[in-house]
Amino acid sequence: MERIYNFSAGPAVLPRDVLEQARDELVNWQGCGMSVMEMSHRGKEYMGIQAQAEADLRELMGIPGNYKVLFLQGGATSQFAMVPMNLLRGKTTADYLNTGEWSKKAIKEAKKFGSVNVVASSEDKNFSYAPAQSAWNLNKDAAYVHYTPNETIGGVEIFWTPETGDVPLVADMSSTILSRPMDVSKYGLIYAGAQKNIGPAGVTVVIVREDLLGQTVAGTPTMFDYKVQADAESMYNTPPTYGIYIAGLVFKLLKTKGGLAEMEKVNIAKANLLYDYLDATNFYNSPVAKENRSRMNVPFTLKDAAMDEEFLKGAKARGLMQLKGHRSVGGMRASIYNAMPVEGVQALVDYMKEFEKSHG
Ligand SMILES: *Cc1c(COP(=O)(O)O)cnc(C)c1O
Repeated sequence: MERIYNFSAGPAVLPRDVLEQARDELVNWQGCGMSVMEMSHRGKEYMGIQAQAEADLRELMGIPGNYKVLFLQGGATSQFAMVPMNLLRGKTTADYLNTGEWSKKAIKEAKKFGSVNVVASSEDKNFSYAPAQSAWNLNKDAAYVHYTPNETIGGVEIFWTPETGDVPLVADMSSTILSRPMDVSKYGLIYAGAQKNIGPAGVTVVIVREDLLGQTVAGTPTMFDYKVQADAESMYNTPPTYGIYIAGLVFKLLKTKGGLAEMEKVNIAKANLLYDYLDATNFYNSPVAKENRSRMNVPFTLKDAAMDEEFLKGAKARGLMQLKGHRSVGGMRASIYNAMPVEGVQALVDYMKEFEKSHG
């Protein structure tokens, strides 16, 4: 079977170039006689691979020197706990914005470690928008402010950076990292599971300002202490070596493609293809407020949900896969991360038009 167009929200499509390079190097990495999977994480070959991955990520995102880059495990979900464990720093309360399913999970976990002040919530409208900063009720005594710039399930993205003064800003960037340039210096901490826009599942990237480290809550397990991980260069124990290697190949590819500014241009063009069509028809509908329409995850519904199954069947027959929406939203969701080529989005739009013609 030829490669399909994979619209999965995660694990998600990876660049074909990266998969092919990994295939070519799978058994014998650059003539060293073994696979990356077989290397000691303390050996010079692997240490070089990880150092290069970090250097390339730093260059891509413009990460300042006073930030640590960590390659951890446990997914973004572990960060829901690690963030309060590490960043409460003697305070008792943190601010959280509630814009959807991932925000809710982060809030629930943080409540195990302190009190949570929900600064604003869009639950009143089924998480179809993001509250403007003017509507946020920030607490000056909060240890940090947490938000989710792209809600992967609801398809709600925040394109501006919140202003939180001296209170560190924390972002779950799992599904938006590397999709556009962002000013890392505005953040205290950024985290992202790899399987949306970075690489294979199993790697979690954490970017954290150095001065926030070293004040964990009592009882924090050693593995969950950012400072321990930073001091050990993410090798306190065995890191997810193969996943970091693949992530490194992705970083290198993005650099050769012109970096994140170029990614943003392409991602805007891809998203516009879909949203322009959604706006031009009554057969399909986008449930998200225009200013918050995600460039990475595009949920849409059919006029008549009774046609959903047939729509999915026809899509599958054309190699357009994983379009079924999340059970909490219904309808469809097309995830169009960096690695989704514009041809894939065009093929989806063509199919949607065809389906509308025969069923509208
Ligand atoms: C996928 C996702 C998560 C959960 O990631 P895991 O790596 O599975 O723990 C958390 N937040 C957001 C925004 C996500 O998209």
